Amino acid sequence: MERVYNFSAGPGALPEAVLAKAQKELLNYDNTGMSVMEMSHRSKDYMAIIESAEQLLRELMQVPDNYKVLFLQGGATSQFAMVPLNLMNRNNKADYVDTGVWSTKAIKEAGRYGKVNVVASSADKTFSYIPKLDQSKFDLGADYFHITTNNTIYGTRFNELPNTGKVPLVGDMSSDILSKYYDVTNFGLIYAGAQKNMGPAGVCVVIVKEELLGNAIDFTPAMMNYKNHADNGSMFNTPPTYGIYLCKLVYEWLKEQGGVEAIAKVNIDKANALYEYLDNSELFSGTAAKEDRSIMNVPFITKGHQLDDQFLKEAAAKGFVNLKGHRTTGGMRASIYNAMPLLTVQKLVDFMKQFEQANK
Ligand SMILES: *Cc1c(COP(=O)(O)O)cnc(C)c1O
Repeated sequence: MERVYNFSAGPGALPEAVLAKAQKELLNYDNTGMSVMEMSHRSKDYMAIIESAEQLLRELMQVPDNYKVLFLQGGATSQFAMVPLNLMNRNNKADYVDTGVWSTKAIKEAGRYGKVNVVASSADKTFSYIPKLDQSKFDLGADYFHITTNNTIYGTRFNELPNTGKVPLVGDMSSDILSKYYDVTNFGLIYAGAQKNMGPAGVCVVIVKEELLGNAIDFTPAMMNYKNHADNGSMFNTPPTYGIYLCKLVYEWLKEQGGVEAIAKVNIDKANALYEYLDNSELFSGTAAKEDRSIMNVPFITKGHQLDDQFLKEAAAKGFVNLKGHRTTGGMRASIYNAMPLLTVQKLVDFMKQFEQANK
């Protein structure tokens, strides 16, 4: 079977060139006579891989020197606990914006360790928009302020970052890291599971301002303490070595594409191709508020569940797979991460046009 057009929300499609390179190097990496999977994480060869991964990510995101870059495990979900454990350390409270399932989970977890102030929520309309933020509701004494920059399930994103003054901004960037330029200095901490836009599941990247480290809540397990990972160059224990190697290949690939600003242009073209069609279609429509639409995840519906199912079935038969919406929302969702070529999105739009013609 040929490779399909994979619109999976996560783990998402990886660039084919990356997979081919990994395949080529699988049995014998760079004349070492072994696979990266079989290497000591402390060997010279592996150290070169992880250092290069960090360097490339720093370069791609223009990460300043006073930020640490950590390659951790446990997915973004572990960060829902690690963030409060490490940062809720002065006044034991934090501000959160609730923009979807992932934010809600982060809020619930943080509530186990301190007081959470939900500044705004879009739960009233199934998270189909980004709520307007009223700065008078921000707690000046909060230890940090948490947002989900891109809401994977509902297809919304913050177009503008909240101005939190001296309160460090924390961003769950799992589904839009490296998709467009973010000024890292606006954040105290960024975290992202790799499996959407950066690599395979099993790696979670944390980018954190050094001054925020070293003050974790007493009972923080050693493995959950950022300082331990930072002091040991992400080698506090055995890191997810092969996953980090794949991330490095993805970073190299992204650099070859011209870096973040170049891929951001392609991403906008991809999203526009879909949104322009959705806005003009009589059959399909997008479900997210126009002004808050994501360029990574595009949820849409037809006029009924039955037709949705028929569309998904016919699309899959043509090789367009994983277009089913999240189990909590139904409908469809096209996840168009960095690895998704513009041409594939155009093919999907063409197919949707045909489907519309046939089902008028
Ligand atoms: C996928 C996702 C998560 C959960 O990631 P895991 O790696 O499964 O823990 C959290 N936040 C966002 C925004 C996501 O897209």
